[in-house]
Parts: sequence; structure tokens; C-alpha cells
Amino acid sequence: SDLNLKDNLTLMATHEKKLELVTSKAPLPGPGQALVHVKATGVCGSDVHFWQHAGLGPWKIEDRVAVGHESGGVVLAVGEGVTNVKPGDRVAIEPGVPCFKATCDYCRKGSYNLCPEVDFYSVPPKDGTLTRYHVHPAGWLHKVPDSMSYEEIALLEPLSVTLQATILANIQLGNPVLITGAGPIGAVQLLCASAAGAFPIVITDLSQERLDFAKRLVPNVETYKIDTKKTPEEAAVEIRNAFTRACGHEPGTGNDCAPQISMECTGVESSIATASFATAPQGLVFVIGVGRDYQTIPFMHLSTNEISLKFLFRYRDTWPRAIRLVTGGKINVKQIVTSRFPLEKAKEAVEHAADRSKFSVKTIILDED
Ligand code: NAD
Ligand code: ZN
Repeated sequence: SDLNLKDNLTLMATHEKKLELVTSKAPLPGPGQALVHVKATGVCGSDVHFWQHAGLGPWKIEDRVAVGHESGGVVLAVGEGVTNVKPGDRVAIEPGVPCFKATCDYCRKGSYNLCPEVDFYSVPPKDGTLTRYHVHPAGWLHKVPDSMSYEEIALLEPLSVTLQATILANIQLGNPVLITGAGPIGAVQLLCASAAGAFPIVITDLSQERLDFAKRLVPNVETYKIDTKKTPEEAAVEIRNAFTRACGHEPGTGNDCAPQISMECTGVESSIATASFATAPQGLVFVIGVGRDYQTIPFMHLSTNEISLKFLFRYRDTWPRAIRLVTGGKINVKQIVTSRFPLEKAKEAVEHAADRSKFSVKTIILDED
């Protein structure tokens, strides 16, 4: 055709726990689909996990699967019947595509992230979007304004996670909020909580570098470095003291402040315990982090303080809202990018994101002509 397509390049994770950059012929869109030149893709911790473990939770890589699900690009061609996007449009790719049948309870009530038949691109057997040319159901592409960079478009995916979390946790003006974990999700959660008007915000991590990075994102955040020699109860007391001081009071003088909402962004048992002990009575521990199949929680502490524990699985209907937040300058999401690689170096990019001896928060792969 007259599209002048180059070779397709795709980064795949194999059942042998290897990353392979595979060359193939570019795909063409069928009815209802659009062909997207993927211009930017963010590396997610789950991409690293799929590669290093040949699976994640219930999902196993049988042969190989393309990684990546945080992508933005430009439409090159559309198949029959597509009217919502056209060639030249900048689009975000929503990677979770549910069945959307009227007989599906979850799709029908709008909780389409819980559709039992959801196809999530990058979860085997569905190939991911860390590729040059990707064919996607056109209805799951979101047109963005030309003012938005491809990198920002890719970041709409992690932003969707914490936007959904911010909505479900009901973070409001003046709420004291604890964020545990200052990885990419903790960092975007920090931007969301701050934009929602939370104050004070305290963020924790094991890594001083990640805490310093968080402080640059939101200068009035308090950081608390977790010392693994301390118990969760001990850490929680110190975290509460940080809230009280951020409110301008000395701890123990009758004006103590504790977080009403804790946004858990690690999935690590001791961190969930720390959040549980730090949270005020009748508060909420909102768990975004995922971790081991079975974990111990401070059951009686949560029970006797009426603290709720709530969970999140991805997002639903967040893209239009996330696009407005970035377009309107309410969330400056591009600040979390620390490393950039060209598509030809996609393997090195994922290895870099996985290398804890090198500082990174969000690694982005770009294919800008
Ligand atoms: P990440 O691993 O890059 O960041 C986690 C951070 O937590 C790291 O900086 C680490 O140093 C810190 N940490 C580890 N143990 C800690 C402890 N005990 N106390 C405080 N900090 C500690 O991961 P990420 O990409 O930022 O994602 C965070 C979590 O969110 C992951 O578990 C991820 O799988 C999960 N996630 C869930 C959803 C969902 O739909 N529920 C979506 C996206 C990501
Ligand atoms: Zn469904």
C-alpha cells in the first residue's frame, strides 16, 4: 500500500525468561480496527515481572508474548466502519478491552475492568504494545489534543490507575493522606493526591533517592524513609508525628494528626501493616500494590478501629478524565520520566528499568521517526 511502513519491531518476553526484539511485517487493520504507529511506551513493573518470571500471578507465558501496555501513538490507517479516529490522529491506547456484551453483568454495569473476558494487551495470550505498529479495536483508542506529547500520552495509563484510586478512595481538599511507596505508581498517586487538595501528604519508601525524587515533584510533601529494623507499629508512630508536625503542631500536645486515607503503593506485607497502624480510626487503607497471594494483616487493629481495607483492579472510564487533567495542566505527569531509549534499544530499556542499582522511576521507549 501507500503507507510506506518500515519493518515492525516488537519486544517479546519468552517462556525461557528472555527478552527478544523480534522483526516482522507490519500488520494491517481489519474491520473496526485501527493501525497505530506507537511512538512512546512506558515500562511497567509488570513487564519486568513477566520477563523475569515467565508469568505473573495466574498468567503464564506459554511461548512468548509482546510486553508493554502504556502506549501512545498516531493513527496510520483504519479498517472498515471506523469513524471515531482517522489517520493523523494522536491517540492513547486503552490496553484493557472487555467483551461489552449485554449479557456480561460487569460490562453492563460499567465495571468493565472486571469483565471475565477482558483482553489486556501484554497479558498472555494477548500481545502488548511495545512495538512499532499496533492494531487495536478503534473504540479503545482515545483521541488526544495535538498539544500532548507522545510521552504524556503513554503516561495516561499509570495516571489512570491512580486517578481511579483517587476517585474510589474519595481523596478531598484538606484530607491528610499517606502514600506508601514512591515508585512510579506512588509518584503519580502523589501528583493526584496533591491535585485533589490533600494536605498534609507523607510518602514512604526504602529508597532515599526515590523520596528525594518525590519531594521534587511535590515540594510540600513530607518524606519518611522506612528502616526495616523498625516494626510497622514503630514506623506508624513516626509517620503520624510527621503528619502532626506538617500541621504545625508538636506531637503529643493535643493536636495530633493522622492520615484518614492511606494509599498503599507497594503490595509489600510490612508496608500494608505500616499503613494500617498509621491510619486514623474509621479511616481507609486503599491498596493499589499487588504482592504475594497470601498476606498477614493487623486484623484486630483494623477491626477495633473500624479501618476499611479496599482494593483496586486497574481502571474504568478514566482516559477522558486523565486527558483533561494533563491537557488542563492539573497533573504534570511527564515529570516522572527519568530515562528514555529508542525502540531499537527496547530490550536495554526494560533491563534498565529492572536494574535497582541504577536510579529510574519511569523509563520510556520512543520511536519518533
Ligand atoms: P515499584 O516496585 O517500582 O515501586 C514500589 C516502591 O515501593 C519501590 O520504590 C520500593 O522501594 C518501595 N517499597 C518496597 N518495600 C517498601 C516498604 N516496606 N515500605 C515502603 N516502601 C517500600 O512499583 P510501581 O510500578 O510503583 O507499582 C506499585 C505497585 O502497584 C506494584 O505492586 C504494582 O504491581 C501495583 N499496581 C497495581 C495496579 C492495580 O490495578 N491494582 C496497577 C498498577 C500497579
Ligand atoms: Zn464483559
